[in-house]
Amino acid sequence: MKHYTMTKIVATLGPATTTKADIKRLYDAGVTMFRLNSSHETPAVHLERLNYIREIEKEEKTLIPVLLDLQGPKIRIGELKESFEIKKGELLKFKHQKEMVDGIIPVDYEGIADDVKPGERILIDDGKLQLVAESVENGVITARVETGGLLKKRKGINIPGATGSIDVLTQQDFEYVNFAVTNNIDYLGLSFVRTADDVKKLRKILDNMNSQVKIISKIEKPQAVENIDEIISLSDGIMVARGDLGIEISTEKVPIVQKDIIRKANLNRKVVIVATQMLESMIENPIPTRAETSDVANAIFDGADAVMLSGETAAGKYPEEAVHIMKMIADNVESSNFLERNCFSKNMIESITNQSMAIGMAITDIIKNIDVKAIVTITASGYTPKFLSEARPSVPIFACCPQKTTCRGIKLYRGIYPIDLQIEGKIDKQTLRKIDDFFLNQMEYSKGDIVVFTGSIPQLLTGGTNFIKIHELGSTDNI
Ligand code: PGA
Ligand code: MN
Repeated sequence: MKHYTMTKIVATLGPATTTKADIKRLYDAGVTMFRLNSSHETPAVHLERLNYIREIEKEEKTLIPVLLDLQGPKIRIGELKESFEIKKGELLKFKHQKEMVDGIIPVDYEGIADDVKPGERILIDDGKLQLVAESVENGVITARVETGGLLKKRKGINIPGATGSIDVLTQQDFEYVNFAVTNNIDYLGLSFVRTADDVKKLRKILDNMNSQVKIISKIEKPQAVENIDEIISLSDGIMVARGDLGIEISTEKVPIVQKDIIRKANLNRKVVIVATQMLESMIENPIPTRAETSDVANAIFDGADAVMLSGETAAGKYPEEAVHIMKMIADNVESSNFLERNCFSKNMIESITNQSMAIGMAITDIIKNIDVKAIVTITASGYTPKFLSEARPSVPIFACCPQKTTCRGIKLYRGIYPIDLQIEGKIDKQTLRKIDDFFLNQMEYSKGDIVVFTGSIPQLLTGGTNFIKIHELGSTDNI
């Protein structure tokens, strides 16, 4: 029987992974979803990669979700003729302008002077350079250098407390939202979310376009951590975006915030991805550090549905190896006794007392007592498989859903494998026989293997999980 890795792997595509063959190698190594990063390259380049992914999807008779990450309001230093050293204790001036004028450093965001207040930290180039604002006058910020270094043009600026007035979507983002809708992208990554309103804003745009594209809110600002409950409830998924988050809330706070966000997302059955620097050293080396291996493992123990590769696959020397190692780490975690399987978290059992929970608990009991090979859900919206995914079952959850977009989207959840099967209207004997036939003929399952069917009868009902059938494959007379 085929082995199914439960944890999902997201790989960012970039200059190191441009050809169809590059992408296919990553897919073969175990990638679940590809990420296109609109912060770099052009729409034409992203479209070319997307077309390759769709071709591979067809050729492999599979479903491959795609995430398009919007750059969001990333603030940057403007143009500098040359890099220069800034020293601890020095006072520097910043202003919204294109290039350096009269020794005032240019910043590309026009609201900078309105947003920054004296006493706030200004962090440049991934937090390598640190300053504190002392005064703001006539659109000019004066700040004292606390940690110096080389200041280079176009480097990112993080202002943890501020950027209250900046729009969560830039002009470029609007263009990429169109791109996503036109090209049937599965997930949009919303960067630098601060409040529920930021999520609502993108949702409204998508609704107005009649689009089903799902939203993954990237948690990378302290305000987002404060407003996490509302953000989770309005998003389809969450990314623990540790790169910017580590700068904005400081790196030592990230592990705890990561655990907290994952737990809350799990509880709300929202897919959660842990991202950034997971196997960072593999950008240069064929093997990761032990600390990185542990980081990937611990994100899975924390409850992440998916773990993500960024520079490792976008610009690294060993993209395929990075995916392969990530998959091996996941396989080892999933077969270890430290990972609790076939049970819902205490938190979830205490806070959800509905029919789906009762059915979910019954299914986990069945798995513990009978040699079940798979859970087979019949679902319209993905509600049933998403629910069951939270129990971290030891067998894969196959999701038969009539809509391709639903199928692709739910593939990102831990343990869910969608099956793109035409199921209409009623769930009756014919439907179950069709699925039985599919499992015996199209999948690596054998006559006599036991599976658990669940979903809703007599028809697909969102949130209306109402039946369990323990079924021996091939015994269609018993249906
Ligand atoms: P980015 O987001 O790679 O788009 O910056 C992820 C992060 O900040 O961790
Ligand atoms: Mn980021």
